[in-house]
Amino acid sequence: MIDHFREAANALQRAACAVAVTGAGMSAESNIPTFRGAGGIWEKYPPHEYATIEAYNENPEKVWKFWLELVAQLKDSKPNPGHYALAELERMGILKAVVTQNVDNLHQDAGSKIVIEYHGNAKWLVCPRCRHRDPLDLSQHGDSPPYCFCGTLMKPDVVMFGEPIPSQPLVEAARLAESCDVLLVVGTSAQVYPAASLPVFAKQNGAYIIEANTETTDFTRTITDAFLHGPAGETLPHLVELIKEGE
Ligand SMILES: [Zn+2]
Repeated sequence: MIDHFREAANALQRAACAVAVTGAGMSAESNIPTFRGAGGIWEKYPPHEYATIEAYNENPEKVWKFWLELVAQLKDSKPNPGHYALAELERMGILKAVVTQNVDNLHQDAGSKIVIEYHGNAKWLVCPRCRHRDPLDLSQHGDSPPYCFCGTLMKPDVVMFGEPIPSQPLVEAARLAESCDVLLVVGTSAQVYPAASLPVFAKQNGAYIIEANTETTDFTRTITDAFLHGPAGETLPHLVELIKEGE
C-alpha cells in the first residue's frame, strides 16, 4: 500500500515550485463560521439581502451592521496548526504561494508572506471608485458605513455576490497553477469556481496533486496523487515533520 504522506513529502522535497490552494475547510478548524451549506451564515442571512453589491448600495446600513457582526466573530479566531505548517513550508523555500478562497487573514496571521486572495480580505475596506483601502477597525467604525475621502461609500474589501473576482488574483493564480510542479489542495472541494479549476489546470500541466481534506472529493477520484485524510491542522504539520526528517 502506498504511504500517501511519505509520497507527498517526497514530492514536496523535490518540488521546484509548490503552490497551495486553500478553502473554507481550513478556516472551519479555526472556528470561522462557514457560509455555505447547512448551518452556514447564508442560511440565516440570505445573500440577496446581505451579501450582494446591490443590497449594499440600496441598504448600506443594514448590510454594514451584519458585516460588523461578522468581522467581530473573525477577530477572535486564530490560525490553526495547518496555517502555521503552510507558513513553515514557505520559510523552508518549498511553497511559493498560497491561493485562498478565505477572507479571514489567517494565512497572513500565521506568517505566510505571499497570499493571493480570490475573494478579498474582510479586515479591509475598499473604495469602489478610487480603490483606496483602509483597515477595518471595529473600535473606530460606527453603525454607518464610512465614506472615502473621494466622497464614495466604501465597501468591505471582499468579493460580494454579483461582483466579479478581480482580474489580478485570477491571473496570478492561473500563472502559478500553470508553472508549479506540486499543487497542494487544502480544505476545499471541487465545487467552488474558479478555485476548483486550479488543481485541474495544474494537473494538465504535469503537476503532482496533494489533497488534504477531511472527506474525499471529486479531486480524490480524478486528479489527486496523494490524499492526506484528516483535518489540515493534523495532516499538514505531520507532512512538514516528514519533510524535515528526510532532509
Ligand atoms: Zn475613493
